[in-house]
Amino acid sequence: MQIEDDWPGYNIDLFSSPTHYSGDLECVYIPHGVIMDRTERLARNIMDDLGDHDLVVLCVLKGGYQFSADLVEGIKTLSRNSNRSIPMRVHFIRLKSYLNDQSTEDLQIIGAEDLSFLNGKNVLIVEAIVDTGNTLKMLLKHVEGFRPKMIKVAGLLVKRVPHSVACLPDYVGFEIPNRFVVGYALDYNEYFRDLDHICVLSETGKMKYKI
Ligand code: 5GP
Repeated sequence: MQIEDDWPGYNIDLFSSPTHYSGDLECVYIPHGVIMDRTERLARNIMDDLGDHDLVVLCVLKGGYQFSADLVEGIKTLSRNSNRSIPMRVHFIRLKSYLNDQSTEDLQIIGAEDLSFLNGKNVLIVEAIVDTGNTLKMLLKHVEGFRPKMIKVAGLLVKRVPHSVACLPDYVGFEIPNRFVVGYALDYNEYFRDLDHICVLSETGKMKYKI
């Protein structure tokens, strides 16, 4: 699903959002309900492709926690209501590569644990956003080192950027213009994870939470 370059978003006052962020947001880019509907459809696509396979869901923290939780919930609901089902285990990996709204070369796996249990397993990496694709490329290389049977990637957002490394998820929620977005667990210096909609930051918001 594509969001065009000229999409202005919705006026922030048309939706409810936490008052502690008033003035910090330029617009609602993707309302929470639309995220949920699209996630439900991704869950269906995953079920169609992978139904009856055991899955290890690898949630990329911190930004991926909300998408991961809602996607797993969607797959669980489908599993309950059909004769196909996906047994799932859920694991977490924490990555960090951003300072303010800029990607840095310095990508870190924080608290990297031994992922050798992925050997021979079907892995679904769940990532909130793919920008240049560097993070995903590096993570795939890391996970491949543990020799899983299969690796698929679900990404809620993929940005159209000039210098992408062409590492795209198998399941994409929304392709979006090259704008810095927050909300639905995506942060700006740890703020805005507690916002349900995906929004664009205002200049005031950027200045207020800059470090
Ligand atoms: P990449 O390596 O693909 O350039 O960057 C991916 C990582 O950068 C994501 O996992 C996320 O942490 C961060 N990121 C990229 N774009 C955005 C954005 O628009 N908003 C937020 N909050 N994080 C972003």
